[in-house]
Amino acid sequence: MNVPELIRKKRDGEKLTEEELEFLVSGYTNGKIPDYQFSALLMAIYLRGMSEEELLNLTRSYIHSGIMVDLSDIDKPKVDKHSTGGVGDKVSIPLAPLVASCDVVVPMLSGRGLGHTGGTLDKLESIPGFRTDLTIDEIKRQLKLIGVCITGQTSDLAPADGKIYALRDVTSTVDSIPLIAASIMSKKLAEGIDALVLDVKTGSGAFMQRLNDAISLAQTMVKIGNLYGKKVIALITDMNEPLGKMVGNALEIVESVEILQSKASDNKLLNLILTLGGYMLILAGVEKNLDQAILRLRTNLSNGKAYEKFLSMVEAQGGNPKSLENLWQLVEAKIKLEVPSAKSGYVTRIDTRKIGLVAVGLGAGRTKKEDKIDHSAGIIVHKKLGDKVEIGEPIAEILTNDKSKVQNAINEIQSAYTIEDSFIERPKLIYAIIDQSGVKQV
Ligand code: URA
Repeated sequence: MNVPELIRKKRDGEKLTEEELEFLVSGYTNGKIPDYQFSALLMAIYLRGMSEEELLNLTRSYIHSGIMVDLSDIDKPKVDKHSTGGVGDKVSIPLAPLVASCDVVVPMLSGRGLGHTGGTLDKLESIPGFRTDLTIDEIKRQLKLIGVCITGQTSDLAPADGKIYALRDVTSTVDSIPLIAASIMSKKLAEGIDALVLDVKTGSGAFMQRLNDAISLAQTMVKIGNLYGKKVIALITDMNEPLGKMVGNALEIVESVEILQSKASDNKLLNLILTLGGYMLILAGVEKNLDQAILRLRTNLSNGKAYEKFLSMVEAQGGNPKSLENLWQLVEAKIKLEVPSAKSGYVTRIDTRKIGLVAVGLGAGRTKKEDKIDHSAGIIVHKKLGDKVEIGEPIAEILTNDKSKVQNAINEIQSAYTIEDSFIERPKLIYAIIDQSGVKQV
């Protein structure tokens, strides 16, 4: 097959066949098709979209790039959660061990930073020694022993997504429904799960800023999951402001550990974790209703079982649990500066994507594939939507090791905030819930 001709086909709005997509995806994964040709193909898909048939074939080709883990010899329900990505979205880190502490197995395959959003793997690698490249045998052993892992793609597990994801991150081809759906669903289907809870973000910091696009993405992913015989539910949740207070890799580990130690200081973040976890327990069949499920999760936060599970996971994946005893040691930024408010009033809008891009610029993410992450870099967000603020009062703090980045970061954060005289309602947490029976607006 001729690669430039296949790129032309997609560029001109024609459909690619199953064989053509398999050829392109396997060719790129095996190193036979170079970055520059695959980047052009991604941009053509981004601009032209995909038919339902093409998307199913794309997802299948991603899955076929590796193997599907068989967890049938683990005699417990296997459930996972995946987010479409947001700013400060560290939910997976406390959620996976919390749900696993309720006797449900959580085999979580996560990603790295993507576009303006952070990645669970980059965050976990702020813990000295923590490995995110477990082999399939290691995953199985760990799941049997402690019931949870959070790891990344390997040459066996959804390798196509690992490679294509890194290329999308730096070629502005992230916010595309077929590319997101194939990326997420291939990873999740390769994991050997029975059921999946999807957290589809909408708002100024989401890839799908409009609610209708988020709903379409959710419907697409629910359909793919159902076709593979999995129970899938999607929650459309708010991303009009950073989630929680911390944005940045080590900073988000600090906030995650505080949640697991029952010291959560941001209710919206805690409620999201409990709601997603509640649906995971329901899909796993270990709880029947959401209130009961949330009660069980709250109990395991307060009795320390969830944190114990997290420490076991850190240890099992080569991390040093002692490094969590003095949490702030993980965040070694040389520069820590407050960002003063330029006005008095109420916060009525936050350009959350811009906040994410500032964090990337401070060193928390990549703009080239080979960039190294600065795990200490990031932002502490002090003011959220609906908060009252006085002129000069800190709206945020920036942390970085690169002095040259400071002034631009301060200016950009100030310009990301709209501050007006009149108060606005805080945004809802959940806008809609989607499963095979349809869309329920909340
Ligand atoms: N998360 C993923 O795994 N892939 C995407 O494309 C977006 C979010």
